[in-house]
Amino acid sequence: MSLSSISDHATYRDAWDQKLQQLEPAFRQVSSYSTDVLKEILNWGPLSYCIPKRFGGRFESSVEYHEICEIASYYSLPLGLTLGISGTLFLLPLSLYGQEALQARVFADFMKKPSLGGLMVTEPDFGTDVFGIQTSYTKNDGRIHIEGVKHWQGLTGLADYWLVAARRKLDDNRLARHVEFFTYEASTGGMEVQEVFSSLGLCSIPYGRTRLDLDLPVQNRLGYESNMSGVRIAYDTLHRSRFQMPTLAAGFIRRLVDESRVYTRDRKVFGNRLQDYDQVQYRLAQLQAGHTVCSAFCANVADSIDAKPDLTKDGLIANVFKAVSTDLMFDCAHSSVQLHGANGYHRDLLPGQGLADCRPFMIFEGSNDILYETIYSVFCAEMQKAGVSSLAGLVKTHELFQYAVPELVSLLDFSLGENIPQRKMVVLGRILARSVSLSMVQALREQDVSDDLVENASSFLVCEIERELSHARHLPTLILTDDQPQPSWWRMRS
Ligand SMILES: Cc1cc2nc3c(=O)[nH]c(=O)nc-3n(C[C@H](O)[C@H](O)[C@H](O)COP(=O)(O)OP(=O)(O)OC[C@H]3O[C@@H](n4cnc5c(N)ncnc54)[C@H](O)[C@@H]3O)c2cc1C
Repeated sequence: MSLSSISDHATYRDAWDQKLQQLEPAFRQVSSYSTDVLKEILNWGPLSYCIPKRFGGRFESSVEYHEICEIASYYSLPLGLTLGISGTLFLLPLSLYGQEALQARVFADFMKKPSLGGLMVTEPDFGTDVFGIQTSYTKNDGRIHIEGVKHWQGLTGLADYWLVAARRKLDDNRLARHVEFFTYEASTGGMEVQEVFSSLGLCSIPYGRTRLDLDLPVQNRLGYESNMSGVRIAYDTLHRSRFQMPTLAAGFIRRLVDESRVYTRDRKVFGNRLQDYDQVQYRLAQLQAGHTVCSAFCANVADSIDAKPDLTKDGLIANVFKAVSTDLMFDCAHSSVQLHGANGYHRDLLPGQGLADCRPFMIFEGSNDILYETIYSVFCAEMQKAGVSSLAGLVKTHELFQYAVPELVSLLDFSLGENIPQRKMVVLGRILARSVSLSMVQALREQDVSDDLVENASSFLVCEIERELSHARHLPTLILTDDQPQPSWWRMRS
């Protein structure tokens, strides 16, 4: 039976898993899978999970698409990310904020043939400073004209459709403060790929720099019919994508756990199996804990996301999901490479490939350092609102910590002090994000999850929180001095 004709989700999910398993050799090639393989996969219809039923799609619940992406990431992180980009960053915003006639046309295309969508926001001079982008648009006779240069878009030159972020050019040539999003069909022309980048990982996803000179109808602006502002659309879309990150992380780390377990079972060193050494068991337990934490996030998302048609106000929790799960992806890949020894360094084996593939997750969709600073700042404002001065006081009053209050109160019983430097805010943000994670892991006790897994992940998070607390205490002593390192200065001084 063809995959796209399966209507029951559980049957589709199992068949999807089996089909991807058969493609394993293609996923492990150095340059990862080809466009032909990707087209074959798209023909199985995974993106229909982001297209409403009235347009022929299968969208019923975001959770089902998350499951599809979790499985994809188990076999190939680039594939999981490709589905994340096309589904969550293109199709879902179009289905929430696009004009009806435009939706009908674009969704029909996605249902008819293998198609991809992408999101163009970042520019050479504006990445983290996203609302400063200089791509501009003018409006004339019912048409929009967009000009600018974008870079580092996933699926550069490959996606059939794009959401393009631009700011309106005002009469005095200044740019309006707010960003708007426009749907654009690449085959219409006006998108010139000036350079294709040589990326460190995620080799199946092309990246590059694109010059834009686009002409499109005004109806292509997202929010055209609902009059929703571009800023709200930006926040809702970004938060929706950050809610999906734990899904990609859970699939990726689940695979690292499986690979590392098999490898350390079969590999003998000094006559013993690697898995019999205590330090090896410690690393394996860390990997398993990383997976449990991401699964706790997924469970939280699964409980809440369908009841939230608008995620604009869910930035705090979205930032926790994104920052912690992508940190864990990197830490787990790093540990898995270590466990695989020299074999971990093969570009065509999963650990080494995964290490390069997962690193940019800590950079895109909000650099993790900035997200942690924001997490701290938002909790700080909540502390002021609640009239408490210690993190322990915050923990007792805020629902995000509700399942781990006794543990967190004893860990965080100190006052914050004044004039906190940015570096300390980042570390405190990390502590708070891991404290929220601890509460979500403890909440798993209410579900049918083994106590051992919950205990293991809780100990792991407590260790992380304690390490960061010690980090926070010693931070100010690390200062960049004016000394310039000289070649062999250590020799001159000896
Ligand atoms: C693999 C990959 C995929 C991507 N996919 C897409 C995509 O599909 N679409 C798209 O539009 N863009 C995409 N991007 C771009 C990505 O969103 C940006 O790279 C990201 O927003 C960071 O911007 P930047 O590279 O300009 O870094 P910068 O803004 O120059 O920041 C560099 C670093 O400086 C630090 N920093 C920045 N600001 C501050 C501050 N205020 N305080 C303290 N430290 C700070 C942070 O550590 C940050 O990581 C992708 C990037 C990569 C690497």
